[in-house]
Amino acid sequence: MFNPKSNSLFSALLFIYGAVVINLEMEIKQASKYSIYNMSELEKTNKAGCYHCKSTFDTSEISETTDDGKTAMCPKCGIDSVLPDSSPFKIDKKTLTELNNYWF
Ligand SMILES: [Zn+2]
Repeated sequence: MFNPKSNSLFSALLFIYGAVVINLEMEIKQASKYSIYNMSELEKTNKAGCYHCKSTFDTSEISETTDDGKTAMCPKCGIDSVLPDSSPFKIDKKTLTELNNYWF
């Protein structure tokens, strides 16, 4: 039986779900913004995380850079996927794994 009330509720839920998914994807896309030309940001903080190998480390461990010294390379895996602690992303295992699943 067709019930217009539950149908509109379903549409509303679907809409909210869609909005959340799109929002999450937009956030994840932002991560690449923080992993390039990030040396000046990394100099202001002590901790950083890599969403390629999912490790966290002291920014003092970063010795390799690219883009004329403006982009940090991960001291553990050598990939330019380093997020400064000051980015909106938490550099914990959960977040780094989510980003890793999206980007790699
Ligand atoms: Zn790494």
